[in-house]
Amino acid sequence: MQTICNYVKLVYMKADNNIIATLQKAGYRLTKPRLLVLRFLNQAKKPCSANEIHQVIKSLDLASVYRTAHLLRSLKLVTMERRGDENVFCLTGKPHHHIVCSKCGYTETVVCSHHFNNKNFINIEHQLLLTGVCDSCQKKL
Ligand SMILES: [Zn+2]
Ligand SMILES: [Zn+2]
Ligand SMILES: [Zn+2]
Repeated sequence: MQTICNYVKLVYMKADNNIIATLQKAGYRLTKPRLLVLRFLNQAKKPCSANEIHQVIKSLDLASVYRTAHLLRSLKLVTMERRGDENVFCLTGKPHHHIVCSKCGYTETVVCSHHFNNKNFINIEHQLLLTGVCDSCQKKL
């Protein structure tokens, strides 16, 4: 069983140079804070809030984490999702959703295959929170 969002990791590994190229094209360098946040999100097993990132990367204050995450988001390297009443960040891979175990919080990603069309709207975004009971919790049922 995969414990990490597989394709997101793959996309990042493959796209290491693409990330640098994307930053450079927009006039940004891959600074230490940007690299730290990207690396952190790459190994994170679920989307993380700025606060959670800051708690691990103590060398970055919360404001820098926010600034960095929002910059990466504006460059479409990172997506921002809603979790309860906070924003969480996630490395951009293919469109995806997260499925969360309602018993232990274990999280995996599932590929999104939704397409919505409405002629009166552009840039339609959607969010979906899926819950279920994970493999190891099923064994404890
Ligand atoms: Zn995500
Ligand atoms: Zn579970
Ligand atoms: Zn979807």
